[in-house]
Amino acid sequence: MSGEGVRIALVLPDLLGTYGDRGNMLVLERRLHWRGIPSETVTVLSSSASVPDSCDVYLLGGGEDVAQTAAMRVLSRSPGLQRAAARGAPVLGICGGLQVLGTEFTTGDGVRHEGLGLVDAVTEPAGERAIGEVTTDCLLAGVGMLTGFENHLGRTRLGSGSMPLGRVTRGIGNGPDRAEGVVRGHVVCTYLHGPILARNPALADLLLGWAVGAPLQPIAEPEELAALRVERSRMRARNPK
Ligand code: GLN
Repeated sequence: MSGEGVRIALVLPDLLGTYGDRGNMLVLERRLHWRGIPSETVTVLSSSASVPDSCDVYLLGGGEDVAQTAAMRVLSRSPGLQRAAARGAPVLGICGGLQVLGTEFTTGDGVRHEGLGLVDAVTEPAGERAIGEVTTDCLLAGVGMLTGFENHLGRTRLGSGSMPLGRVTRGIGNGPDRAEGVVRGHVVCTYLHGPILARNPALADLLLGWAVGAPLQPIAEPEELAALRVERSRMRARNPK
């Protein structure tokens, strides 16, 4: 964290940013602001000269096959994200972002692409899209239940170097083993849109704690977030394990 506060990198929102995934950046900004911590968002576009390696947290959204393949080309040309992840900066990748951060992904047209390899995950297309609401039990300590929605063709197998983000209690997620998402160190990937950090503030605070280097104190939540919590517990009641 620099003197100007937490630097949030919004990575390639012109390619990766379906279903309002950009909202994850707004959530991080807002939760820092509520705690009196300044922040600055650095938007990296596909036309930007390079990807900075000095940001404190990196956000990648979802994307269609063509867009995520283009994102892969940009990110492998300028490895700022890879350097930041190597020094422990938190990275959040959603859906197409998950697939790009994995070891390899095969798009719906059958073409195999190398991924950035920040997580140990291989994605292949399935016969039908996974579409709908998802709930999971998050395996990261202190986060609890995660909710979101998914829309993807790919199914993701994890290698031994990574663990799932959660176990699916409703929906499809990665496909195999009721696994959802993938985590390696501070790189957190998920199929959940929502935006996920708006629907699951505990995950936002975990990422921010990693970004500032210390767990954050809880904040009193405004009414609309408290209402979301109520909605989540209702969903849990409707979908018991
Ligand atoms: N193109 C990927 C798939 O269909 C990811 C989709 C998304 O990001 N919503 O599997």
